[in-house]
This record gives sequence, C-alpha cells and structure tokens, in this order.
Amino acid sequence: MDLIVARNREDLVAARRPGTVALVPTMGALHEGHRSLIRQARERADQVVVSIFVNPLQFGPNEDFSRYPRTFDDDLDVCRAEGVDVVFHPGVDGMYPPGRQVSVSAGQMGDVVEGEFRPGHFDGVLTVVLKLFNLVRPDLAVFGEKDAQQLALIRRMVADLDVPVEILGAPTVREPDGLAMSSRNRYLSAEERKVALGLSRALRAGAGRRTPDEIRTAAREELDRNPELKVEYLVLVDPRTFTEVKEPYEGVAVLAVAARVGGTRLIDNITVTLT
Ligand code: AMP
Repeated sequence: MDLIVARNREDLVAARRPGTVALVPTMGALHEGHRSLIRQARERADQVVVSIFVNPLQFGPNEDFSRYPRTFDDDLDVCRAEGVDVVFHPGVDGMYPPGRQVSVSAGQMGDVVEGEFRPGHFDGVLTVVLKLFNLVRPDLAVFGEKDAQQLALIRRMVADLDVPVEILGAPTVREPDGLAMSSRNRYLSAEERKVALGLSRALRAGAGRRTPDEIRTAAREELDRNPELKVEYLVLVDPRTFTEVKEPYEGVAVLAVAARVGGTRLIDNITVTLT
C-alpha cells in the first residue's frame, strides 16, 4: 500500500482501515529515535499513523520555532521505508483557527523541572497531543522516554481526562558515543557535538552510584568538568511526579539534565533503580 498523506480530519477518516491504529506524534526531522517508535507501533497495530507537525504552542517566544528543522520530503522517505500507512501533516492554520480559547493545563507537574525553564511548554504539548488523539482516534500511541517529563504528563492527562488510548513508552536511542538522538543535534558544530557528550557522560556517572546524594554529586562533578556546558538543571526525580527524590529512596528514579551548548538547548535523562 502506498503511503497516504493526510492534511485534515476528512483525509484521516478516508484513510482509516479496519483494525487497530497506532499514532506516533513527531515534529519531523526524523531520525533513528523516531524510527524505533514507528517500529514499536508497527508491531502493535494494524495501521500506523505518524503525525509531523511543528507545534507553535509548545515553543516560547525566544525559542527555535522558526528555525526548527523542516525536512518533509526526507521524512516521507523514512516513513515509506518503515512501512508507515498514513502521515498526518496538518497546517498551523488548520490546527489553530482564529478564535481558539480552550486548552489543556498540565498542572503542577508542568511547572517543575523542564517546565520551570519553558513556561507554558507542557500546556502546548498536551493541547496538541489531545487534538491529535481526537483527530486520529488511535487505539495506542508511542512516545519516547527521551522526553521523560512529557511522557509522564501524557500518561497523567490520559488518566485524569479518561482519554481512550493506550500509551507506550520507548527507550532512548543514542549515537554509538552516547549522545541521545535529537532533531536539534543538527544545529551542533563538530566542536559543540563533543561538548554535548558531557550530558550522557554525566548521566552514566550518576547512574553508577547508589544513593540519591551520591548520584547527584557524581553527575554534577562530571558536568562541572565541561564548562562550555551551560547547565539549566540536573535533577533526580520520581518518574511519575517529577518531584525530587529524597533519602532514603527505594525504587525507580529519573536522573534528568538540560544544558545549552552554544545556541542549542539539549535534554537527556536516564532511569536508575535505587535499592
Ligand atoms: P520530536 O519530534 O522531537 O517531538 O519527538 C517525537 C517523539 O520521538 C517523542 O515521543 C520523543 O520523545 C521521541 N524521541 C525523540 N528523540 C528520541 C530518541 N533519541 N529516542 C527515542 N525516542 C525519541
């Protein structure tokens, strides 16, 4: 079957086939991380829909909305190669016609960690994700653990608003040297890319320790070795609430970091189990 490109709800309805539907929401500039999500969707559903939409609502006024990479033709090739059935590629005006008022509030979890540095970001994410769910009506949707707070908030939204969709998380795909794949990596110069490796190195250093304090200290020491990394936060949090874990703590925690390298803002995280 040929890949169908849908631009609106009518196109999506026409493209729908009997059986289960999986949605993989993306902002395009597809890489191996996106591909792994698509493969997980493929395994679980009869029809796979990939949405490609750079969502203005989730970008702050001084963020990279206008320069965000847009590589639609290459993305279509990736989708074809991965056996995607439908690419949903709406226009901004179609998604947000004038007069819009109602949106989703991410609540307290949307204001901490990443939300503290990107006010309103998660409201924008949840609003577009709920709209995509209502347009595509998928049985399941796949999101990356690379954006761990986003994944936690989407799970929260689905539970709190009784959204009839199953949410699947997919592990972070990395370059062989440890750098987490990201559409924003293409902003990095060769020098900056080397500096950016400090993020995953710090997470690995932290993950090798046992207590919350030791984990934070080991990761912070590694970050401090890279003064070109302008760290915004380094936190060890409960993956369901994104509040800092305190000693003594047993269970799964997420060690998350955000930093600027030159003009590029990068995030990464790793899951640690404390016993
Ligand atoms: P984006 O296009 O950056 O909005 O990402 C679309 C989806 O791909 C989100 O669910 C991300 O968490 C996921 N994603 C991005 N990078 C990676 C990665 N390196 N590994 C796994 N999933 C990823």
